[in-house]
Amino acid sequence: MNVSFHGVRGSTPCSCELNRRYGGNTACVALEIPGSEPVVLDLGTGLRFFGETQPHDGSFRAHALVTHLHWDHVQGLPFCVPVNREGAQLDVYGPPQEGLTLAEAFEEFMRPPYFPVRIGELIGDIRFHTVDDSDFAVGDAKVRARYVPHVGPTFGYRVEFGGVSVAYISDHQQPLEGDSIADEVLELADGADLLIHDAQFTDEEFRLKSHWGHCTVDYALHVAREAGVRRLALFHHDPSHADRDIDRILERARVRADELGVPEVIAAAEGLTVSFGVEAAATH
Ligand SMILES: [Zn+2]
Ligand SMILES: [Zn+2]
Repeated sequence: MNVSFHGVRGSTPCSCELNRRYGGNTACVALEIPGSEPVVLDLGTGLRFFGETQPHDGSFRAHALVTHLHWDHVQGLPFCVPVNREGAQLDVYGPPQEGLTLAEAFEEFMRPPYFPVRIGELIGDIRFHTVDDSDFAVGDAKVRARYVPHVGPTFGYRVEFGGVSVAYISDHQQPLEGDSIADEVLELADGADLLIHDAQFTDEEFRLKSHWGHCTVDYALHVAREAGVRRLALFHHDPSHADRDIDRILERARVRADELGVPEVIAAAEGLTVSFGVEAAATH
């Protein structure tokens, strides 16, 4: 099973020379196994680059798990070329939004004057599935969706695919006081092979932006330790963090991970693929 990062930023795209190595596109991660339909986590601007790896002849099939409707998680949809082909199919799953179904919420932001093309005008078949916190199957993957603390209705996901477990908690408001962890978060991340987690802020930044819906790198490490995950990927990098800042954040996180007993920490980067071989799958 391959986990490919196509967009790793939070908040807004921020491509520039200083961000070249980690990348400037927003949230989009693809889980792929040869012979199975891919599972895509979020539809941020990185989706365009995932689309470049997929067939453009109308045979495209994929499942997308959307955490919530903030721009950085949905803006890539109209730019995914293989979706815009006769015969293509994309199933999109996500939580209801304050009285709106998932389809209605997408129709709200993808329409003039905000955007010239409506969902229904894309040529492929895009099927929206409004799901509550529940367990369900998409293609060959088993999915667990749970509400996690953020701003507005937001899911975290756990995906079991080809014997590998990936927890995806892209946006996570840590408590303003203390270091408690929501039961839903621990349930999603429990013993996961890979936890992809919000790591937007340093401690100093969190003091200034504590209500913005995110957490510190140290809190991500705390979740990884408490849930007993095998590998943590720092994700949803702040757009103001240049490559050298993320290098420093990662270096410090690895020291802290050693102290805490978290086996491995990486920083998600655009173009990075984490592969799980047969041995990883066999241990489950
Ligand atoms: Zn976000
Ligand atoms: Zn958000």
